[in-house]
Amino acid sequence: MEEGLGQHSVPPPGSIDKYKILDIKPIRSLIPVFSKNPQGQSSGQYPSGFSPFFPFGGPHDTSTTGAKPRAMPTPLQAFRSPFGEDEDLNDNDGFSNKRSAASHSTRVKLKKHKVYNDVHVDLSGLVGISPGQRDNGNREVVNTVLLSFDALRRRLSQLVDAKELNTGLIKRTDLKAGNICMTKGIRTNTAKRVGSVPGVEIGDIFFFRMEMCVIGLHAQSMGGIDALHIQGDRGEETLAVSIVSSGEYDDEADDGDVIIYTGQGGNFNKKDKHVSDQKLHKGNLALDRSSRTHNEIRVIRGIKDAVSPGAKIYVYDGLYKIQDSWVEKAKGGGGLFKYKLIRVPGQPSAFAVWKSVQKWKAGFPARTGLILADLSSGAESLPVSLVNEVDNVKSPAFFTYFHSLRHPKSFSLMQPSHSCSCSGKKACVPGDLDCSCIRRNEGDFPYIINGVLANRKPLVHECGPTCQCFPNCKNRVSQTGLKHQMEVFKTKDKGWGLRSWDPIRAGAFICEYAGEVIDKARLSQLVQEGDTDEYVFDTTRIYESFKWNYEPKLLEEAITNESSEDYALPHPLIINAKNVGNVARFMNHSCSPNVFWQPVLYEENNQSFLHVAFFALRHIPPMHELTYDYGSDRSDHTEGSSARKGRKKCLCESSNCRGSFT
Ligand SMILES: [Zn+2]
Ligand SMILES: [Zn+2]
Ligand SMILES: [Zn+2]
Repeated sequence: MEEGLGQHSVPPPGSIDKYKILDIKPIRSLIPVFSKNPQGQSSGQYPSGFSPFFPFGGPHDTSTTGAKPRAMPTPLQAFRSPFGEDEDLNDNDGFSNKRSAASHSTRVKLKKHKVYNDVHVDLSGLVGISPGQRDNGNREVVNTVLLSFDALRRRLSQLVDAKELNTGLIKRTDLKAGNICMTKGIRTNTAKRVGSVPGVEIGDIFFFRMEMCVIGLHAQSMGGIDALHIQGDRGEETLAVSIVSSGEYDDEADDGDVIIYTGQGGNFNKKDKHVSDQKLHKGNLALDRSSRTHNEIRVIRGIKDAVSPGAKIYVYDGLYKIQDSWVEKAKGGGGLFKYKLIRVPGQPSAFAVWKSVQKWKAGFPARTGLILADLSSGAESLPVSLVNEVDNVKSPAFFTYFHSLRHPKSFSLMQPSHSCSCSGKKACVPGDLDCSCIRRNEGDFPYIINGVLANRKPLVHECGPTCQCFPNCKNRVSQTGLKHQMEVFKTKDKGWGLRSWDPIRAGAFICEYAGEVIDKARLSQLVQEGDTDEYVFDTTRIYESFKWNYEPKLLEEAITNESSEDYALPHPLIINAKNVGNVARFMNHSCSPNVFWQPVLYEENNQSFLHVAFFALRHIPPMHELTYDYGSDRSDHTEGSSARKGRKKCLCESSNCRGSFT
């Protein structure tokens, strides 16, 4: 039974009320119910029961007649502190986030100009979703929808953190982002269906219920049971198509493939309420019907998020069928509907992987194929396991584990110091434009809650050891070490690889690329001497550009100088991790990666140092290999052919594989 708690709501201990919401939600609602337009107006462009969305917190005139003047909405960034034109935001450091040469001669404008569009416009084309793809998705479309949703959510969180949005109105940025996606057509698999959903894979994870709504996996934003209406012999009937199981309440007989699911209603677990029998209606009726038809039901497992207390991670565990149902007397006396669901055999394991990881962490049974419990020898705060389940190779070639960069003694960039002077505070705070580190990020705090990167940037400026703020300042994410328990493992055909025992959410920091900083001359020398460049990270390679950030138009926000996602580095950086390095040296290449790199700059010993930090591109389930796009060597581009020829055959197996890489 899913109790419908929000990601950010933390129930007081012992008072979880799993029946609170289910009874009031009609099972008929095809899409989540949001606050209604008080005027009860319908634009006619929305399904019934769904009201238009007001991006600025309160309803304004949504009539399309234009008869009365429209009230001006409060601009999204109206609360941004005005930033005087007389302040030089470049600080003359030459590391401004602006690409154009012109911006170096003029001053960087932090204020972004906004225009406001009609909220009713279908903007799905903006993120590349066609009407046909909205009806029926595929893997690519599902990824696009999820990326757009999360990018919006992160941007809204960033604005809320900086108090640029009225925080009283937007506490749940996930609901807000979901609402925008729904109203503007950024969604897929809109028609309800029995069985698997195109583009959604077993094992996929979600951090918000809205994510499952926008991709058509489970259309109820709060309810635990989603149903489909069919016209049967006995008139209209409902079939259960998906359930969200909280696990905590239903796993009485849970061996990973069996769920005992409790029906909805009856006020159980509610001390002050009268306990009554659950009724055979709504979701219970749908489950009852499905227990007779034995149709496939999608099961989503809600698992406690170890990182955010009170929040859950949702794992799509594939298709189940109801095998048995009965009524059971609850402690308080009322009758409970119980449904026994059995997993359809032959599906890839999903929830079972989570259960295995739990056991490995507890040490019983130990991870099979474990060679070394901690490859980092204590250098990381979390152990890094070394595992080989495929052959007899005992370990990768010797190297010294080190968590960051080593610069040669002679190495000096002689960059001026730009540390912030946010002393007397615990940390630098979003929205504080007195902080020079935040100013260099164009006024936006780069990270949101849980250290998630809000947007990709040409260059992220973090606080560093020379800043006056406390070491726990939230603007030091890439300096705080591993947050996920990593495993270096032997792949079938790509040598050693890297994956995580823990789920990783999109935008989460994974690790930096550690190693020895070398220059181009040294690199050529190494290659000439026959040394491999396998462990070299070189920022001067050509990297495919890709979109990860939010679409400003979806927030009614137009940026005159649209933020670039292309890298802009103050100088090239070449890192050799052959002899010295961390887990990053084991990450393999993919043409369809789940990790990207982001240049990060901060101060140390009064010098600016550039680092390469890796962040999750999308949510990554446990035990999925972590990969990034290695880019390609410039020399491979200049050999006349438009097709880029890499020297190594690519084994990434993605549909858009380039075939080779260097
Ligand atoms: Zn700081
Ligand atoms: Zn600061
Ligand atoms: Zn700082």
